[in-house]
Amino acid sequence: MKSIVIGAGIAGLATAIRLRVKGYEVKVHEANNYPGGKLTAFQQGGYRFDAGPSLFTLPYLVDELFELSGKNPKDYFDYIKLDTACHYFWDDLTIFNASTNPKEFAKEAAKVFSVPEVEVLDYLKYSHKLYEYNSPVFLEQSLHKIKNYLKSHVGKALLRIWQFNLGKSMHRVNAQKFSSKKLVQLFDRYATYNGSNPYKAPGVMTMIPHLEHGIGTFFPKGGMHEITQSIFKLAKDIGVEFQFESYIDEIIVDDHKATGVRLDTGKEEFADLVVSNMDVVPTYRKLMPTQKAPERTLKQERSSSALIFYWGVKGEFKELNLHNILFSNDYKGEFDSIFNKKSLQSDPTVYINISSKYNPTDAPKGCENWFVMINAPADYDQDWDQLIDKARKMIYDKIHTSLGIDIKPLIENESVLDPRLIQSQTSSYRGALYGAASNNPLAAFIRHPNFSNRIENLYFCGGSVHPGGGIPLCLLSAKIVDELIE
Ligand code: FAD
Repeated sequence: MKSIVIGAGIAGLATAIRLRVKGYEVKVHEANNYPGGKLTAFQQGGYRFDAGPSLFTLPYLVDELFELSGKNPKDYFDYIKLDTACHYFWDDLTIFNASTNPKEFAKEAAKVFSVPEVEVLDYLKYSHKLYEYNSPVFLEQSLHKIKNYLKSHVGKALLRIWQFNLGKSMHRVNAQKFSSKKLVQLFDRYATYNGSNPYKAPGVMTMIPHLEHGIGTFFPKGGMHEITQSIFKLAKDIGVEFQFESYIDEIIVDDHKATGVRLDTGKEEFADLVVSNMDVVPTYRKLMPTQKAPERTLKQERSSSALIFYWGVKGEFKELNLHNILFSNDYKGEFDSIFNKKSLQSDPTVYINISSKYNPTDAPKGCENWFVMINAPADYDQDWDQLIDKARKMIYDKIHTSLGIDIKPLIENESVLDPRLIQSQTSSYRGALYGAASNNPLAAFIRHPNFSNRIENLYFCGGSVHPGGGIPLCLLSAKIVDELIE
């Protein structure tokens, strides 16, 4: 049996491995000359940067691919569990170093935000429970197969649906749980883990903090790109075939069945099944323009995108960790700008990731590699060059106000990633980082399924389909495709 995977993003790689393990011949066509899609890296002067994802959770989903293939994960890939999740900074000079240990976290929160420890511990317990009920139902299986609703654990979870806070926004849930506005802001931030707006995203997403504060946050030895490198190596070792610089122009559909693909060279290749790791919107619009598309699904609001400045910085900063957040004073205004005005507000939340803190070879001695990101709207033909200039100045100001650092003279080199580039490098519709936004109580149900209802033998994996974006969910999409294929 032959299969074709369109795209070597993290989900495409994971699907290819799973199909190979099932006994399929697998050929992956990738438009770029490298695997990994958004999960890639580059060199700049003497600095190494992970270009896209910087936060790594649920590493067992990566290990599982090696185990399934009969390999020892540690022969390919290693990672460490972090003690600190993030360092948070506010303009009024409040600093909170968030431990991944719930008790330490609560103790420090009580000191910094003057709240009872129990308030924080109760919240973390609640987030844990929510995750345990929801993950197997909403994340680990297809929501689009009736038979899955007949499973007993699903029935039990659905009986508790009133506890999921679907009718309330994440912000409303957090505001009811915390007496400190800063803690509300800190936990609202988890909506950005799938590019959503905490003032609109359903309260059930308050399960996300459990990933970091319950299960843990991790750092791959060698940096995030090692995730791509190691599973790409595994795929090759078990016999997956790759063709790079190979853009698929069309999915060939014959009598409501996907039978193969047409390359941009005009060459046709045939297979028993086709899996698209391309964003689902261009998969329909570009690869199957004559097929009926699920218009309502494709027209859903896009998730946020980002502006990223990669700076080689002369200097080392003890107050900073691997993950650092400098919060906006007007968080609601920031999300209103991103999702409604499709622009940037003047006081953005700034995220700084410094992988050289854990991987010293990522920067020359005495220097650091700063990945500086602000959330941005998806691409609606804004004047991005002007917004980049504006953002750079706002970020300098924020770093100065929150950290007291005059960063501009310390920047040795810079490159910038914006929504236009994200779109052109990975075919992600409008440069959104996570496909559709989850700014809707029914978000989990209305994402595109991992299979086609109309076309047999056609499957979908990756951040734009169920269960959503981000490395863990992309890996779960591959697992669901695996389960759907008999
Ligand atoms: P993609 O990475 O989008 O790759 C799709 C691949 O398919 C590309 O290589 C593309 O070239 C190829 N392709 C598309 N169309 C065709 C075609 N027609 N023919 C051939 N090839 C094609 N996630 C986290 O978990 N943690 C984070 O901290 C995090 N931060 C992020 C920061 C940034 C700046 C970005 C951009 C993303 C971030 N994400 C994060 C999200 C995460 O990167 C994505 O959800 C995930 O990598 C998407 O993987 P994917 O498999 O859907 O495909």
